[in-house]
Amino acid sequence: MIDSHAHLYLEQFDEDRDSVIRRAEEAGVSSIINIGIDVETSSSAINMARDREGFFASAGIHPQSPVEDLEGALAGIRELIAANPEQTVAVGEIGLDYYWDTVTPQKQLEVLDCQLDLALEVGLPVIFHCRDAIEELLKILEERSEIPPGVFHCFEGGPGEAERGLALGYHISFAGNVTYKNAERLQQAAKAVPLNRLLLETDSPYLPPHPHRGERNEPAFVALTRDFLAGLIDLPASEVENAATENTRRLFRLRA
Ligand SMILES: [Zn+2]
Repeated sequence: MIDSHAHLYLEQFDEDRDSVIRRAEEAGVSSIINIGIDVETSSSAINMARDREGFFASAGIHPQSPVEDLEGALAGIRELIAANPEQTVAVGEIGLDYYWDTVTPQKQLEVLDCQLDLALEVGLPVIFHCRDAIEELLKILEERSEIPPGVFHCFEGGPGEAERGLALGYHISFAGNVTYKNAERLQQAAKAVPLNRLLLETDSPYLPPHPHRGERNEPAFVALTRDFLAGLIDLPASEVENAATENTRRLFRLRA
């Protein structure tokens, strides 16, 4: 199994990172992709991928990461990708987040646009973070169909939005919040995603699946999201797991 989206470099794991990784292995997680949210954390994610077997990384600027010097930050991301081709499998996480307001929508659109250009330039798939902005993000992507398709991480839309993302060639990934009681629309979206476009993730340390809501999330819990989705679409958990693993390998061109 692969946890396709985690942030294990964060300080929330400083006390017990090795135990967290051991528990992930015991739960059947063989690979973890750590996702950067700015230049510094992209570098941390890449360093973890250098140091540990089965780890990969993405590099990018999150829509709510403040950027004073955009040109400098983009140069930093570009350099990290160029210097670490074995470790860096995607540009991300990038996107739009209108829920928080650290960064204005106008600035977010500029940072996103530059990073879509970057993805095109380096030929890597994109990992999208999107909150309260799915309509606007879909519109942008529908206009820029030349961008190498990637994945909507922690998908937030309903079945209609999922269909539009799928039509563009994107994969759709569900985090632990799909297991929550009030997540009916998200669960409808999950039912609309064909098995060959589905990815599994935790977004650790955020969004733990039921019954760990409110706790720190960790990659071992990806098994709970897998089991929940399998129940939702009425397939054996092993089938969901194998499909998601295969999809993640293919999308990010992971070495075995
Ligand atoms: Zn994330």
